[in-house]
Amino acid sequence: MLKQERYQHFVDYFSKNQPDAVTELHYGNPFQLLVAVILSAQCTDKRINQVTPALFERFPSPESLAASTPEEVFTYIRSVSYPNNKAKHLVGMAKMLVEKFHSQVPEGLDELQQMPGVGRKTANVIASVIFEAPAIAVDTHVFRVANRIGLTTNARTPLAVEKQLVEYLPVETLGIAHHWLILHGRYICIARSPKCEVCPISWFCKYYTRTHTETYLQKQEALKVKKTKDQKKKKALDVISKELKKRSVK
Ligand code: SF4
Repeated sequence: MLKQERYQHFVDYFSKNQPDAVTELHYGNPFQLLVAVILSAQCTDKRINQVTPALFERFPSPESLAASTPEEVFTYIRSVSYPNNKAKHLVGMAKMLVEKFHSQVPEGLDELQQMPGVGRKTANVIASVIFEAPAIAVDTHVFRVANRIGLTTNARTPLAVEKQLVEYLPVETLGIAHHWLILHGRYICIARSPKCEVCPISWFCKYYTRTHTETYLQKQEALKVKKTKDQKKKKALDVISKELKKRSVK
C-alpha cells in the first residue's frame, strides 16, 4: 500500500468516526490549558484533571500564580509526576507571561517555547488548540501510533515524526489528527499490548500486516514450541543435578 493511500484511509476513517475528537484535559481558558499541558508531561490526563480544579481555584490568573512560590504550588500538584520541577516551571512560566507577554498566552511557537516548562510539544498543542494553527504535537502516543500504522517511516525522533505528518496530512486535519492518534494510542493501540484484534483500522496498519502474515505467525508458533521444549529440558536437568548432589552428600 502506498503511503498516500494509507494517509487517505487514516483521514477517511477518523473523519467519519471521530469528527469531534478533542483533548481530554479540562480547561476554561488559554492560561489554564497551558498550565494543564505543562503538568501533563509524562503523566495521565486523568491525574491532571484531578489536581487542576483546586489549582485553578487558588491561582485563577497568571498574576496570582506568578506571585506564588514553587513550594506552595507543589502542595497542589504533589500527586503528579515530577512535582518539584513542574512547580518551578509553572511559577517561572507565569512570571514570564506577566512580565513579557502582558499576561496573555502568546501565539507563536518561538515565543511559547521561551517559557519555562514549554517545549515544542506543549507549544504545538497551544498553537493548535487555542490558535488553530496548522501544527501537530508529537507526544509518546502520537510517536508510537504513527509509526505503527505506517504514517511515518524511519522517524526516530518526535521532530522527524512531526515533519512527516505535516508533509502528508491535509493541513485542515493537523489539529484534530493529534487527538485521533492520542486517543487511539490511549485506548486501542496501547504501548505494551496493542489491541490489534479489535482495532478497526488494522486493515491498513503496517504493523498489523507485518505481524499477522503467515510466515510471521508460523515463526511465532515455532518460537513458542521451542520455548516450551527448552523449559522442559531445563526442568529435567535441574532434577538430575539435584539427584546427583544428594548422592554425592551420601
Ligand atoms: S492494528 Fe494494532 S498496531 Fe495497528 S493501529 Fe491497530 S492496535 Fe495499533
